[in-house]
Amino acid sequence: MDLAGPGDCASLEALREHVGDCVRCALAPTRNCLVFGVGDPRARLMFIGEAPGKNEDLKGEPFVGAAGKLLDELLASIGLDRREVYIANMVKCRPPGNRDPESVEIETCAPFLARQIELISPTVIATLGRFAAHYVLHTDTPITALRGRLYHREGRQIVPVFHPAAALYDGSKRDVLFEDFKRIRVVLDRTEQTS
Ligand code: URA
Repeated sequence: MDLAGPGDCASLEALREHVGDCVRCALAPTRNCLVFGVGDPRARLMFIGEAPGKNEDLKGEPFVGAAGKLLDELLASIGLDRREVYIANMVKCRPPGNRDPESVEIETCAPFLARQIELISPTVIATLGRFAAHYVLHTDTPITALRGRLYHREGRQIVPVFHPAAALYDGSKRDVLFEDFKRIRVVLDRTEQTS
């Protein structure tokens, strides 16, 4: 019997293997691909989204649909490409019909995200939407009140921003997102100067 936990995994590859063909929660039977995460395993900047959608579930990669296209635009606006950052989600399997992930699903998957954060050890985490912000900041304050401020947790800088999907239907949120990405750039530049 394998008694090792995510904390025993010494690399992202080992962690991916540990997650395996996961059946730890109710999302397993309806998913196509488990979406582990992509990007630079040594990235200084990590993004945490909510859960895979339809396109991500089919491709096995986070943020490859319409919200992902906007995320790529936002990254480009601050001179970054998705290969230079790391992108993961709160839950690694698609909730059916894109419903919100349930608490038990988030709790079951969170140890894997926690280990991804430890292994990548980014200096800056940008949370995309309320689920990731609530998890990382240990709060249930609405995202509208959280965004626009910088937080510090366990030696990392946390920048909560709206979820790109929310901005697809609300132009005002799109403008705010572009402004908040400028803030991410400033925070990243500052941490790079001091490290
Ligand atoms: N929304 C998310 O939160 N994550 C994805 O990977 C895609 C859409």
